[in-house]
Amino acid sequence: MAETESKYAYKKKTAWDVLTKSQIDEAFAYSNDYIAFLNAAKTEREAVSIINKTAMKAKKRVMVNRGKAAAVVVPGSKPVEDGIRLVVAHVDSPRLDLKQIPLFQDSESNLALFETHYYGGIKKFHWVVIPLALHGVIVKKNGETVTFAIGEDPHDPVFSVPDLLPHLAHEVQDDKKLDDAIKGESLDITVGSQPVRRAVKEKIKTAILEKLHKDYDITEEDFISAELEAVPAFKARDVGFDRSLIGGYGQDDRASAYAALRAVCGLNHPMHTAIALFVDKEEIGSEGNTTAQATIFLRTLIHEVDPKADIDTVLLHSRTISADVNSAVTPNYTEVFELKNASSLGCGVAMSKYTGHGGKYAANDASAEYIADIRALLDKAKVPWQTGEIGKVDKGGGGTVAKYISRLGMEVIDMGPAVLSMHSPFELTSKVDVYSAFLAYKAFLNS
Ligand code: MN
Ligand code: MN
Repeated sequence: MAETESKYAYKKKTAWDVLTKSQIDEAFAYSNDYIAFLNAAKTEREAVSIINKTAMKAKKRVMVNRGKAAAVVVPGSKPVEDGIRLVVAHVDSPRLDLKQIPLFQDSESNLALFETHYYGGIKKFHWVVIPLALHGVIVKKNGETVTFAIGEDPHDPVFSVPDLLPHLAHEVQDDKKLDDAIKGESLDITVGSQPVRRAVKEKIKTAILEKLHKDYDITEEDFISAELEAVPAFKARDVGFDRSLIGGYGQDDRASAYAALRAVCGLNHPMHTAIALFVDKEEIGSEGNTTAQATIFLRTLIHEVDPKADIDTVLLHSRTISADVNSAVTPNYTEVFELKNASSLGCGVAMSKYTGHGGKYAANDASAEYIADIRALLDKAKVPWQTGEIGKVDKGGGGTVAKYISRLGMEVIDMGPAVLSMHSPFELTSKVDVYSAFLAYKAFLNS
């Protein structure tokens, strides 16, 4: 008798059911490598640096754009005008960026602090009272770059945004709406408290500046040409008695980025030219020359594969997976999800026809024909997958790079693992889902 009801409806089958026993073992081994990647790549620059090294080690062609975006290209046996297979993931994640003039002394509390401007969509209360590490670069006027990653080694100091004790929080925090309780401007990071023993105006600030000058040969003005990011200092690690989950910062979207990297580096002689593209600034709207909207980088990559190819023809015949994470059904908050269409942890890579918000606004709405092909491809490769949407209609929403890529005339579908506690300092994924994303991208790039 034919099975007429979808096996994906109401999550009848999880990835744990679909994968073989040895594949589940592989998923756990893969997750160990992925956790190491998360711990080594806490910023877009660090991710790009590792992507570059990994691709070179795999003897793959890799190109880097301004240290913040990259692409790995594997030429196919067919002419490039037959189209490419593109997987795009972003390597930036929400965090606290330092302002251009960050350092100040708060003489009432006797502390030196850094001013920040948060980057991306955060719940501000997640970012106070946790240990923070400082990553990034300071580029001096002479062009010399000082690279930072302070707070990762167990012997390093860490930094932290102080918060008010509950005893006094009643009026200024507890009675307010959650989003108003902590102001963006109050996300100042404590960086020191020991004054110099001299009669100068701001003794603690002076001490910090002298320390920075001694250790890194930088001045206060050098912060003006810097990109310093405060990120959670703790490590990604296994979660649960059964170790089935991964907790860590930046899994949106480094879960997809790592899966795309592993998939493209394992490719040998694909039919169509395969490209894994890693972009920046997705979390703030993909504006800028290192983003999915800077399509000149993609055009340059195609030109390098075949200088004679007509790039518009290539793009029109091409297929893309917008590799980005999806929201996972969250315990205690199931009322914001329409459960038949939501993605859940452990049910495989999540495929979204559209993202956007209210009335599908600002969504790439993938065509039925393309989805049919992708569905067939996933089933043929025995990849566990589910459908996914961000949440209930009119409850909120969000976007990915899919809409920018689809403007080029390519077919585009959103696909990536589901994430719990998305955009928080400690996001959760399922090991079988991140592995399913890898299997999906691999099958796609080989198609
Ligand atoms: Mn994302
Ligand atoms: Mn995001």
